[in-house]
Amino acid sequence: RDIGSQRDRMVTEEEWLQRWEMSNIGFHKEQGHPLLQKYLDVLLNGRRGLRIFFPLCGKAVEMKWLADMGHSVVGVEVSEQALKEFFAEHSLPYCEEPVPEISGAKKLQSTSGNISLYCCSIYDLSSSIVDKFDGVWDRGALVAVNPCDRQRYVSLMITLMEKNSSYLLVTVSYDPNKHKGPPFYVPESEIKSLFG
Ligand code: SAH
Repeated sequence: RDIGSQRDRMVTEEEWLQRWEMSNIGFHKEQGHPLLQKYLDVLLNGRRGLRIFFPLCGKAVEMKWLADMGHSVVGVEVSEQALKEFFAEHSLPYCEEPVPEISGAKKLQSTSGNISLYCCSIYDLSSSIVDKFDGVWDRGALVAVNPCDRQRYVSLMITLMEKNSSYLLVTVSYDPNKHKGPPFYVPESEIKSLFG
């Protein structure tokens, strides 16, 4: 299928912030994702107490699920409103602190310490700031990244993964000439070439 119609499309950070302000967040699901339930064993692979990364996390309820199972969760999201709604909707107390390495960024951390959410662009992160992860839940993340930034996004994700980490990726399949996205259509062949 021809994805040419989406290749040049760009959604700015400002537009994402506006979506949150307008509650134009149809991507957010109150029910946890059935595919995470289905493939949880693949993600965990029998391991306990993992560090799990949620790129472009929004207020994904799965962060609470995994934290409740004893894992530590790290997310990144440009919208501070999204992160505050996450803590409020789960009645989780949290504290805020600046991130010295990233100007203007904040870290919102649950008081219990097992959920740390960075309010900044994912492109500001590096393994020296967040360390590496044992698992990644990528839903609404690669498919939300602007097509021109996909390679940069994936290269960064690879640097954030421990040797034996597992990566669950959710994509959507549709005719890219009929919708402008996001979510963008990322063909399987491209996923293979991006991740190698
Ligand atoms: N993964 C979440 C949200 C998906 S929508 C879920 O499953 O519900 C994509 C989210 O990415 C939006 O909340 C948007 O504000 C955020 N976002 C977009 N560009 C970003 C960037 N460069 N860095 C961090 N977050 C970003």
